[in-house]
Amino acid sequence: MKESKRFHKVFNFSAILSIAILAAHVGAAQKRYDYARPLMGSVFNLSFYAPSDSLAQVASDSVFARINYLNGILSDYLDGSEVNRLSASAGQGQWVYVSDVLYNVLAQSQYFSAKTSGAFDCTMGPVVQLWRRATRRGYFPEKQQIKWARKAVGYRLVKIDHQQKRVQLKQKNMRLDFGAIGKGYAADQALEVLRHYHILSAFLDAGGDLAIGNAPPQQTGWRVEVSNDKQANTAPQTLILKNCGVATSGHTYRYLEHHGQRYSHIADPRTGVGLRTHVRTTVIASNGTAADALATAFSVLGVKKGQKMWQKMPQIGVWLIETNGQKNQHWKSPNFDLLFSGNIQ
Ligand code: ADP
Ligand code: MG
Repeated sequence: MKESKRFHKVFNFSAILSIAILAAHVGAAQKRYDYARPLMGSVFNLSFYAPSDSLAQVASDSVFARINYLNGILSDYLDGSEVNRLSASAGQGQWVYVSDVLYNVLAQSQYFSAKTSGAFDCTMGPVVQLWRRATRRGYFPEKQQIKWARKAVGYRLVKIDHQQKRVQLKQKNMRLDFGAIGKGYAADQALEVLRHYHILSAFLDAGGDLAIGNAPPQQTGWRVEVSNDKQANTAPQTLILKNCGVATSGHTYRYLEHHGQRYSHIADPRTGVGLRTHVRTTVIASNGTAADALATAFSVLGVKKGQKMWQKMPQIGVWLIETNGQKNQHWKSPNFDLLFSGNIQ
């Protein structure tokens, strides 16, 4: 009887102690931290809430180290990147073992290609390179060059051995390009790194590709502004968001001008030509990777085909603006405003 009483007391004491410790953690004032870093050819803006400066420092350092690591694998601008080494093996009948990151991004790319009837295609490298060179030097690619580049494009030419995480690029001169999915993936990975530090209220803007975690403490979501676009002539819209990804694709800064016509840095895999009517696409999806890939796909599809495609994935939100000379054509999926008022879970 005595023994049991003492046990009771000890038990009560330790229970009170652990509740107190827990309360100290939960109650610790969460401060907001903001960082901006030039990465992957854009400025990355990271914001999150954390209980201490020291944790925020370690966590943000880990995020940026992770993004640098991803860049070394996924960038087609770096000579020695893993993706460029894989591209160099194209057409040699060779299986190449790839890292988990490259495998994941490639597998997701293939998924989004299949889902969008090839409008998104990470094998667009040869076409992208051709247009990039033409934009830099100020000439218009010749038909023959476009034809030649297109021969080495097609997501079906990528074979993945999912068991062994090996990849084979079937056609000579193929070149992978993750420009339309890499930043969204990096944004998702940033939130994943923060989760390891129990930082859940977080937001990363990877130059127009956003990954958004839990809402800031005592708020319903993160405030995001889809900016006004001169050409689109739309009012800016402020959105309150949590637990989702948002991507905006547009050719405001990157395009080739030829005979008064603008050709976007996003190209149609079926024609190998930069988009001419596209102005801006914003997609909201469950994460940054999906939003990034789908914003590019819907840009390629345009309003008419985009509307049809949306019927197959009505859980995402799409806002598409095209131009027809002076006139702009807008299309918003019917769920768009609802999603953007923070209702996505
Ligand atoms: P942004 O760079 O404005 O975020 P995107 O996410 O749409 O725009 O990515 C565009 C980049 O993706 C291009 O610079 C190019 O490297 C690549 N790309 C171009 N067309 C396609 C396409 N149809 N499918 C996949 N990637 C593409
Ligand atoms: Mg994209």
